[in-house]
Amino acid sequence: MTDHPARKRIATVWLAGCSGCHMSFLDLDEWLIELAAQAEIVYSPVASDQKRYPDDVDIALVEGGVANTDNFSLLQEVRERTHTLVSLGDCAITANIPGMRNMLQGADPVLRRGYLDLADDSGQQPNAPGVIPELLERVLPIHELVPVDIFLPGCPPSAQRIRGVLEALLRDQKPPSKEATQIRFG
Ligand code: SF4
Repeated sequence: MTDHPARKRIATVWLAGCSGCHMSFLDLDEWLIELAAQAEIVYSPVASDQKRYPDDVDIALVEGGVANTDNFSLLQEVRERTHTLVSLGDCAITANIPGMRNMLQGADPVLRRGYLDLADDSGQQPNAPGVIPELLERVLPIHELVPVDIFLPGCPPSAQRIRGVLEALLRDQKPPSKEATQIRFG
């Protein structure tokens, strides 16, 4: 763990999710103004279009499962450059909705189903190596690929629960997790 006496550097990351967890983060409403006084949002799809994940991030809230090669490489960068990684929401923790495609047993059946079986006569599979990231064979929860520090389940986790976790982390404390409301899925 590294010490950051100044304002905490916070990131939010969007992998394979519906962005509902980010909407819940935005539901923090006026508390976001208090958060801005205590922390700097250094990377987030709701704050900027910054392409590179920055160094020395204190807290990252990561939404979504890992569905393709871009998700995987970004997650690796997040882990390498982040002190406390929060697995935010059921998709990050269990693969959840994006993981439903795992029932088709692999990337090829998913692509065939989406682009050929359900298409009209002009169906064709995407073919743009290096442009379109390749699907992984299965959508994975993030803790199967990198160590996770905190799990915050929910679909999405409520703004109140996100706030509870952030408030504790901003004080360099462990977030509360004993109450059932803190560990509820769905
Ligand atoms: S956990 Fe729910 S709200 Fe969050 S990204 Fe997944 S489906 Fe969307």
